[in-house]
Amino acid sequence: MSKIKCRGRNSEGTRCSRPVVEGHDFCLFHLPDKQEALVDKFRLAFDDEKASQLKNHPDILDFTGFHFPIPLLFMEDLDSIYFKDAVFYESVTFWNMNEQRGVFFKGTINFKDAIFMDMADFGCARFQEAIFSGAAFREFVDFSETIFRKVYFDYAIFESNARFVKTNFIEYADFCEAKFLADGDFCEASSEGKVFFNHSRFQNAWFTRSKFKQVDFSDAVFLGDLDVYESNINNIKL
Ligand SMILES: [Zn+2]
Repeated sequence: MSKIKCRGRNSEGTRCSRPVVEGHDFCLFHLPDKQEALVDKFRLAFDDEKASQLKNHPDILDFTGFHFPIPLLFMEDLDSIYFKDAVFYESVTFWNMNEQRGVFFKGTINFKDAIFMDMADFGCARFQEAIFSGAAFREFVDFSETIFRKVYFDYAIFESNARFVKTNFIEYADFCEAKFLADGDFCEASSEGKVFFNHSRFQNAWFTRSKFKQVDFSDAVFLGDLDVYESNINNIKL
């Protein structure tokens, strides 16, 4: 077994202790741009890794900086989970197929600076605290009917359509400096707490029938269509 340590880091910032893939500076999980045989190897190894983490420390799963070359489906309710700096080359879905409902996240889920190269589906999920600060969504992302107690999307970039249809922001949502480069769809979204869109930038923005208790659009920029029909938003200045 190789004695060279992987250059990847875990959630606490310390070096990954897994052995490197021969000829590389990273372990199988942290290695970027995996091809063919390594993808197959990853598929098997990740199932084991997830099972072993769920067994050893089910309250915190740590996939910080992992490069995922395969589509992912998470069906189980999870506690705290780190995907900080992770790169998803294929689709990611959080959906409990057996019970036909969204997944519940009981702790903090951290996707800070993660990159989603393909579509991501969080529809109907329930989050206590979710951190998507600085995350990049290259393809369609769906948060429809998702419930967030606290969520951070500051500096996130939505390069394709982002659906927050009927999404409920219970306590706090931060979209400051977020960029919606296609459609930002918040139709029928609602909040009981504060939602911040300060310095955000929208191509097309749909807030039809949205009901926010407190919302702040200071210095937000709307480049294309903006629809606030039957919403209670009245402080957008164009
Ligand atoms: Zn590693």
